[in-house]
Amino acid sequence: MASDVRVMFFGGLGEIGRNCAAIEVEGRIMLIDCGLMFPDDDMAGIDIVLPDFTWLRENADRVEGVVATHGHEDHIGALGYLLAEIPCKVIGSALTLGLAKHRIDEHQAGKNAEFIEVGDNDRIQVGPFDLEFFPVTHSVPNGFATAFHTPQGVILHSGDFKLDMTPVDRRLTDLAGIGHLAKDDGIRLLLADSTNATAPGFSDSETSIGANLEDLFRARDGRRIIVACFASHIHRVQQVADAAIASGRTVATLGRSMNRNVAMAREMGLLRIPDDKLRAIEDVEGLDPAKTCIISTGSQGEPMAALALMAAGENRFLTIEDGDCIILSSHPIPGNESAVNGVITGLVRKGAEVIHSGTARVHATGHAKSEELKVLHSIAQPEWFVPVHGEYLHMVEHAKIGERMGTPADRIVLCQDGDSIVLNDDGIRRGSSVSSEYIYVQGSVGELDESALHDRRILGREGFISAVVTLADGPDGLVLAAEPEIISRGWVKGDEGAQLAKTIGAEVRRAVEDALADGARTRPRIERAMRRSMGRLVNRETRMRPMIVPVALGAPDDGD
Ligand SMILES: [Zn+2]
Ligand SMILES: [Zn+2]
Repeated sequence: MASDVRVMFFGGLGEIGRNCAAIEVEGRIMLIDCGLMFPDDDMAGIDIVLPDFTWLRENADRVEGVVATHGHEDHIGALGYLLAEIPCKVIGSALTLGLAKHRIDEHQAGKNAEFIEVGDNDRIQVGPFDLEFFPVTHSVPNGFATAFHTPQGVILHSGDFKLDMTPVDRRLTDLAGIGHLAKDDGIRLLLADSTNATAPGFSDSETSIGANLEDLFRARDGRRIIVACFASHIHRVQQVADAAIASGRTVATLGRSMNRNVAMAREMGLLRIPDDKLRAIEDVEGLDPAKTCIISTGSQGEPMAALALMAAGENRFLTIEDGDCIILSSHPIPGNESAVNGVITGLVRKGAEVIHSGTARVHATGHAKSEELKVLHSIAQPEWFVPVHGEYLHMVEHAKIGERMGTPADRIVLCQDGDSIVLNDDGIRRGSSVSSEYIYVQGSVGELDESALHDRRILGREGFISAVVTLADGPDGLVLAAEPEIISRGWVKGDEGAQLAKTIGAEVRRAVEDALADGARTRPRIERAMRRSMGRLVNRETRMRPMIVPVALGAPDDGD
């Protein structure tokens, strides 16, 4: 009997972002990706969301490494946080590792990583892991589908992929290789990207965007053009640069990550822009606008990125003028829609023309649509299938596709963040769950939990009211030493507010006196009584539920 293989899902199953899974073979753990998620509007003030590393921390000495499937933030963005705590190997293509290193260096965690660079169709042994890497097309170059040759057969993880038949670098998704794997070894378990499972048909080829861009450029002869896209989307940058040069323009890059990635990709030979066509952004205001194209960051509406600063009139390199044309060669990630809208509005107010994926074909998705998923399933013919990478409805739809393509329904396992499965000689059974809490990060101070965010939501929506009472020792125990003081923020103001504060003060006074008469002697117990009475009164009088903060000064913390 071969030993069991366990697969755990820490993130990415039930949301778009923070992709992180693990495969356990002979007691060793190999992660597949370690990504972050961008917050949505409901996560007030949060910068990023991480997977919960609790289980990995507890098993840190067994963590062999991380396979980084490709260089997107939702797959590599949390590596710095992981490595700071858990030193291990990081395995990926040269570009993926290059992009990951930028992230890891921000946490000074590079010394904790051993980087293992792999090329197309390499097969390597890392501890008990026998890994094989198949090229896939996606919206960042040099991504992989990864085959884990395990004691329980082959587990194939698709990575993020699409079936682009005419990719910019002519590096196709290796369907032949996957077919060989399926015929020779058989694929025991397929884990595959579900992002676009609900979208009908085939995705557009990346190269179709270049021709569209060139048409747009030529129709805007004599005007300055600014194109925003993901800094990691090297092939998009290539097409923007090609369209610019073909229409008689030189190119300048704007934004820290754009500058860095363009330099790195040129050095690696993945991006070709002749030296004499590339200008420094510092010189851009002095160049003929009609002969200039700026490639910028900020296509997701990120507030501190170049494009948002332009919209706010605060970019130090250039000022938007009447007649400028700005192309958002991108599609907002779920959660970023309103930020992107805000940036577009700001640019239009400054007199610019803004073109985006809602008005022209200036973006192609990087994820396989339903017909492409069918092709993958028809070739992989997995014995078992777990849809990954997507919101729940995407995974449900992908499960239907898997069934339609021949995997029996009882061999398709729908999993969510925190689930684990065990692969053994009999098939798959569900294993014990792992924590999949959202770990919120803001600024550089560290991590916030769900309760902190819950408080923020209440503060944001309903404001807060605090009552402060001061107690003193009297002849027969504690007594109120002064009238309760009511303080509120973001709540009812003016005469009405003053009247309410008075009513609440009287209610708090009564509640404290009752509690003291009842034998309450400690701060927690008195504050509990205050909170209860205030909550009831406020809700009755206003139908609101602001945050209530009772403070009882002068009472001991324990002793009841
Ligand atoms: Zn991706
Ligand atoms: Zn992804």
